[in-house]
Amino acid sequence: MARLILPCKTPTLSKTCFLGLVSSTPFQVTRRVACRHSFNDILKHRWIVGFEATQRRNYRVPSYTLSGAKKFNQRLICSVATEPVPKQVEEPSMETPKEIFLKDYKQPDFYFDTVDLKFSLGEEKTIVSSKISVYPRVEGGSSPLVLDGQDLKLISVTIDGKALKEEEYCLNPRHLTLVSPPSGRFTLEIVTEILPQKNTSLEGLYKSSSNFCTQCEAEGFRKITFYQDRPDIMAKYTCRIEADKSLYPVLLSNGNLIEQGDLQGGRHYAVWEDPFKKPCYLFALVAGQLESRDDTFITRSGRKVLLKIWTPAQDLPKTAHAMYSLKAAMKWDEDVFGLEYDLDLFNIVAVPDFNMGAMENKSLNIFNSKLVLASPETASDGDYAAILGVIGHEYFHNWTGNRVTCRDWFQLSLKEGLTVFRDQEFSSDMGSRTVKRIADVSKLRIYQYPQDAGPMAHPVRPHSYIKVLILLFLLIVTLMDRLLSKLLHQ
Ligand SMILES: [Zn+2]
Repeated sequence: MARLILPCKTPTLSKTCFLGLVSSTPFQVTRRVACRHSFNDILKHRWIVGFEATQRRNYRVPSYTLSGAKKFNQRLICSVATEPVPKQVEEPSMETPKEIFLKDYKQPDFYFDTVDLKFSLGEEKTIVSSKISVYPRVEGGSSPLVLDGQDLKLISVTIDGKALKEEEYCLNPRHLTLVSPPSGRFTLEIVTEILPQKNTSLEGLYKSSSNFCTQCEAEGFRKITFYQDRPDIMAKYTCRIEADKSLYPVLLSNGNLIEQGDLQGGRHYAVWEDPFKKPCYLFALVAGQLESRDDTFITRSGRKVLLKIWTPAQDLPKTAHAMYSLKAAMKWDEDVFGLEYDLDLFNIVAVPDFNMGAMENKSLNIFNSKLVLASPETASDGDYAAILGVIGHEYFHNWTGNRVTCRDWFQLSLKEGLTVFRDQEFSSDMGSRTVKRIADVSKLRIYQYPQDAGPMAHPVRPHSYIKVLILLFLLIVTLMDRLLSKLLHQ
């Protein structure tokens, strides 16, 4: 889970950040509103909803729309329920975000086995080619295959090497639907064009300063290519990246580097292979001018793992504590949970342009520099402790979140709650357990308790959501505490 760097400084701000994204249980909200809040409070609550929507409109990203498609209206719908029974929501038009209900979960009709991606990174546009091995959940079915896609320009789509005719697929601003795909296993190839330089949404592939970077949790992969963008679609990935060698000497993705070389025109390429199945929200790509601090870790079974922390050259001297933290986390996870790292390479990228805090992409964790860099001249004891905790947290996701992942986004609290618990235990073992607990409880009292007592109170597992955003840092930190305190009071 990516974390926001700066928690909101007041409960009011905290509410506005989170509002409209996750709905509460109707019963719970009704009870809380009825018992604790006046009508004026409800009106105020609605004003905050309006504020949130206004802010989103004000900072709306210019959409890169499909030719001929209507401009996508990014109106935000607040889903905080205020009635005891959820109304049957009308099927939204293609232009409005759809509310997702837990009760509506269905298994996918198609699964993906392997995904081979090719990125040709350019200064104007980037071409993404995907080759997906698809198989139906039930042989002989007749379901359409619905792929998510947003801000993409479709160049071509083929099945088993044969280009689809216009009547064989349906394209709208949110989906590419293959009307009647084969009833057995087939190969789907899609070529899309994207504009990372114009992508300021911080989702999908974007370029900031001189680096290309991705953020796919929760639903950013649909801004890279058409895909079943849901965590229960697990596939093995390869990724070939091509780019100008002088501008982007470092090309990174998930897994192990299996091939690299030069191309004509001053370009070069790298091919990455991740041998483990993963959901697309863990896909990552980084390309840019970076240098690395290198080290190694010998696992308890004797395997040698190469560790690299990549930063802009001037930041490299400040990565010593992050490397120490990574090695400590790897050792601790073996000693305490019996979990050994499962690849030969572990990359961390720390760049100032990554605004989502930190993200546990498989074997390619990406951080904002503030969460990784430290020097004795400028960092406090608290800074060192925070780096230890967040490096540990993202590393621990390798098992709790990545290898063992969620079925859907209603299970977000499972991977985050467990991983927060693990990073709290890690920090406690590495420092003072008492000091760590006091700090965590202080955060609960300052941030979580006001939210639980207010109109934004919601269960750890909501019944519906509009959009899965990266939840607030403080919410994540306190998930396990809330679960534990509930158990204690039952
Ligand atoms: Zn997390």
